[in-house]
Amino acid sequence: MKLDCYNEVKALTEALVEIPSVTGEPGGESAVAKYIRDWYRALPYFKKYPERATVFKTANDSVDRHCALTWIRGEGGDSSRTVILIGHIDTVGVEDYGTLKALSVRPSELAQKLRETFTLPPHVLEDMDSGEFMFGRGVLDMKSGVAGHMAVMKYFSEHPEELCGNLVHIAECDEEDNSHGILTALDVLAELKREQGFEYIACINSDYSTFDSAGDPTRYIYFGSIGKLLPCYVAFGKEAHVGASFQAFDPNLLIAEVTRELCLNADFCDEALGEVTLPPVSLKQSDTKERYTVQTALCAYGYYNFFTHGRSPAEVLELCRKAGERAFERTVEHLDAQYKKYCGLAGKPYEKLPWKPRVMTWKEFYAGAEAQHGEPFRKAVRELAQRIQDEQPDTDLRQLSLRLTEEVWKWYSDKSPALVLLFGSIYYPRIQMGCSPGELALQSAVELAVEKVAPQADRKIKTKMFYPYISDMSFMSVCDDAASFLPAAENMPAAKAACQPDMEKMLAINVPVVNIGSFGHDGHMLTERVDMLHTFRNVPNITYETLRELLK
Ligand SMILES: [Zn+2]
Repeated sequence: MKLDCYNEVKALTEALVEIPSVTGEPGGESAVAKYIRDWYRALPYFKKYPERATVFKTANDSVDRHCALTWIRGEGGDSSRTVILIGHIDTVGVEDYGTLKALSVRPSELAQKLRETFTLPPHVLEDMDSGEFMFGRGVLDMKSGVAGHMAVMKYFSEHPEELCGNLVHIAECDEEDNSHGILTALDVLAELKREQGFEYIACINSDYSTFDSAGDPTRYIYFGSIGKLLPCYVAFGKEAHVGASFQAFDPNLLIAEVTRELCLNADFCDEALGEVTLPPVSLKQSDTKERYTVQTALCAYGYYNFFTHGRSPAEVLELCRKAGERAFERTVEHLDAQYKKYCGLAGKPYEKLPWKPRVMTWKEFYAGAEAQHGEPFRKAVRELAQRIQDEQPDTDLRQLSLRLTEEVWKWYSDKSPALVLLFGSIYYPRIQMGCSPGELALQSAVELAVEKVAPQADRKIKTKMFYPYISDMSFMSVCDDAASFLPAAENMPAAKAACQPDMEKMLAINVPVVNIGSFGHDGHMLTERVDMLHTFRNVPNITYETLRELLK
């Protein structure tokens, strides 16, 4: 293999892991970004061009944090073609390590302590005994991926004559939460494009992956990416005292039916290019009562993770609306049937209950109140959003959406039960590749790179069409058109508070993507571990060969 980088990537991974950088915690993410900048600036190339290794601060962010930006101009011919390397430097929290929290960022000591402290499953102990895995927070997700990019960048900084084109490396913060890092990077990339005349042709991410199914020995490289939406339903019911419970329309019952409709329902799996997503899954279900009372609830809500390969936000919105309508109809039928039965048992006269299905998207819901009340209504909603953000800037976006939905409901004169469908998070766009010449060029460059590295890789390596986890790669490419993309933002009450992906900005970059990343097990768990041989040696070499092929 061309790059003899195992030891260097290993040492860099440890160095990056030892700087705690839990998403949003003060100082951590910036410290890693600055470490990366300083590491580059100690190399001869960047001593000559220090302005090519910098950090930049995220925009519109309540947290003060930075990303690292580094670039190299190739000297093997005059070309504006530029490949972007990305990888995130933040990690999820370390609470899962319990008493070993402080050691979670000390890979050299952690494994032994884990063994002494916890009862670990046999396959984890097997990996530990093999000596092939490094343990620690961020070793897999994904400081080792960033370290690999640094080694590749270092090599090309010493051999710029091997590049007929340019490289940009972004090590971004806030991937695990709201993607402020990569969304700010879109502006920075656009600026570089203007100033340096870069023409972006591909983006290589190095985020982690794990096996497809237990025991699968294959390491995967992924073109494109899965998409993700967070449909959220807010149900407004009709309250009643428990002594008159058939007079109530219980929003908990309605949300329960929505969960029944969506949760792990394989009819919602989305197939494209022969690959299938997991079905939606429930992430929260609750009513809004703060304490016990003998009154039934007035409002309840639930939200659901929804993956896509081929479907646009517009299609998902319609599917979810229909699911909401079915859930509402079933709730009404159930209530009526039970009431009829009860009346029979109790010897009371039965009269059909008054409930009617009523499902609205956020856009329709807002427009309904706006049509009736105009500016005073708009002002009230605007001011509430501002007040919440001023007073509690770290309010969860779902809670913000819920409070705004409740505010709109206050303005409704028709208080018959209703179900409002909205998006609780920004849209992580799907990327479906395989059509344009640029996409095909990237695919064949990667396949060729795998062919070159595979014979000495000691691992089986295969390519697939959709990266199955959420990553910042989603913002580097656009494959939905504006009409099918827009409903994602239009139906998100907290859109203004969130760092929304801006389609115009994404279109300005819009490159084919591939994830050539770290491999290991148990990302986001206390047994997080990375396959060192594959990640420290094979991955940087596949990336290297891909770059040579793309920029030859
Ligand atoms: Zn990650």
